[in-house]
Amino acid sequence: GIKIEDLHLSFGETQVLRGVNLDIRPGEFFAFLGPSGSGKSTLLRAIAGFGPTPQGRILIGDRDVVGLDPWKRNVGMVFQSYALWPHMSVRDNVGFGLRERRVPAKQIRDRVDAALDLVGLAHLADRMPNQLSGGQQQRIALARTVVVEPEVLLLDEPLSNLDASLRVQMRRELLHLQRKLGLTTIFVTHDQEEANTTSDRMAVLDGGVIQQIGTPQELYDRPANLFVANFLGTAN
Ligand code: ATP
Ligand code: MG
Repeated sequence: GIKIEDLHLSFGETQVLRGVNLDIRPGEFFAFLGPSGSGKSTLLRAIAGFGPTPQGRILIGDRDVVGLDPWKRNVGMVFQSYALWPHMSVRDNVGFGLRERRVPAKQIRDRVDAALDLVGLAHLADRMPNQLSGGQQQRIALARTVVVEPEVLLLDEPLSNLDASLRVQMRRELLHLQRKLGLTTIFVTHDQEEANTTSDRMAVLDGGVIQQIGTPQELYDRPANLFVANFLGTAN
């Protein structure tokens, strides 16, 4: 799991995270929801090890990772833009992290094949990224992230570039994959329905502070304050 204790983060003079506390269970699918600029991406990036070093603690398992380099944290992150390397085949894109880790070539081949099977795209291994649809690229980005077997999966609006029907399909597949691998996952989204239908629990952020944490049902039934009620559209 992931435990965050009193996390503060500033860009220069601007305070962006102002005392975040969170306890995410192993294998949980957790969503961050909140308006634009509320600090969702900043919080996710702080967990992954990108951006300014925060104050406070971020425990992954029982290791405090604050100050650790991103590649030593055992997290995988998928960004809003999939950013596959355009000059590399699908197979080489997915194997990249394993080559970096000096995994033997034979093992890389097997693990890349398994990861491509997992996302149902083994038949596209020799394509180049520009020969793939948006949804296929998204799946390859996911395969590239899970192939290194991270302890934690961080997803920053990974479906926002897709059209509505593909989005719904991909979110089902994502949830299926997450359950199958038992991966502790944080999913950032603007889309309430997406958060409701996927997450075990969610946190609503505003102004760099968590306003409420709970199951989707709990938040809808008992919003903690007017902000949450308004944001979820349950105020009347
Ligand atoms: P969105 O839903 O639009 O993606 P978000 O909740 O992910 O929003 P963040 O990207 O975390 O929001 O940004 C939170 C605040 O931090 C914003 O006010 C933003 O302007 C500021 N911010 C983010 N990155 C930087 C940066 N590199 N330098 C200065 N300020 C930044
Ligand atoms: Mg963001």
